[in-house]
Amino acid sequence: MKEKMTIGILTSGGDAPGMNAAIRAVTRSAIFAGWKVFGIYRGYEGLINGDIKEFTSESVSSTIQRGGTILKTARCDEFRTPEGRAKAWANIQKFGIDALVIIGGNGSLSGAVELAREYEIRVIGLPGTIDNDLYGTDSTIGYDTALNTIVECVDKIRDTATSHDRIFFVEVMGRDAGFLAQNSAIAAGAEAAIIPEDRTDIDQLAQFIGRGIRKSKNSSIVLVSESKKGGGAMHYAERVRKEYPEYDVRVTILGHLQRGGTPSAYDRILASRLGVAAVEALKEGQRNVMIGVKNDQIVYVPIGRAVKYDKPIDPELLNVLTVLSI
Ligand code: ATP
Repeated sequence: MKEKMTIGILTSGGDAPGMNAAIRAVTRSAIFAGWKVFGIYRGYEGLINGDIKEFTSESVSSTIQRGGTILKTARCDEFRTPEGRAKAWANIQKFGIDALVIIGGNGSLSGAVELAREYEIRVIGLPGTIDNDLYGTDSTIGYDTALNTIVECVDKIRDTATSHDRIFFVEVMGRDAGFLAQNSAIAAGAEAAIIPEDRTDIDQLAQFIGRGIRKSKNSSIVLVSESKKGGGAMHYAERVRKEYPEYDVRVTILGHLQRGGTPSAYDRILASRLGVAAVEALKEGQRNVMIGVKNDQIVYVPIGRAVKYDKPIDPELLNVLTVLSI
């Protein structure tokens, strides 16, 4: 391995609180090791267009507390094509980049796998997504902050739900993963969560209604994952209106406010640890791994595995919500 490496950092896909803390950690630990660091703007788009600037320690000053990403992020269809990746490779060579640190979700890390398959570039992935849907890591950067944001919102919605005797369906993000819905339901004391991982044939809505909205309870909050498969909160609200017209039902879609905001202390620490570990991994000669955290220990997960497998939801969590929502 080269003593002095040159690395490029980019953030890609949806932004997540804590990405800046990760950029800062990778930048500072690489500079600490005497390496050269390039910041690549707007994800793979910047890699293709050469929107790349050298980073110093000051480039990341006063960023740990900021949401979003100072490197900006984008979704880049051109990078999905071999021609797009050839342009990216040309810039990697032009800037003398030996390794890339990619901070993003499932799609961004899939792109990294493709690039590393085609060209001699070492890639290290950092799980950066509020969805927490990456296999091999207990938590992803941004998930904890988003969870806290959702819980704060649901607490407020509950005031209205209780005052008006209503059922509220609150739709949260997560793509096809129910971590945000399930855990925010537990934390906010909601009555149920409708999540895509629950693949039994049981109709989750009928189950919730069938359990009976306890007589002493005159309102209910149900967290619904935005999943394409399930149809989202609107779908369930429509069903209640048709099938159970005795209930007064409302929908709140939390949308993008879940992605923003000051990162929680947990996310800042996680991102800092993962960022430092990314540079350590490169020093050890690792390639094509995602850095994750399992049982509070840093782990290396082959990126191919991290993006291929679905991360299961612990059935214990499903039970906790069921038991506590009687
Ligand atoms: P989030 O979980 O927050 O949505 P993500 O990283 O999963 O983040 P995507 O939109 O799926 O977000 O992917 C981000 C970018 O990664 C895409 O716009 C594209 O540039 C690249 N990408 C995704 N999948 C692939 C792939 N199979 N091959 C090459 N590039 C890909």
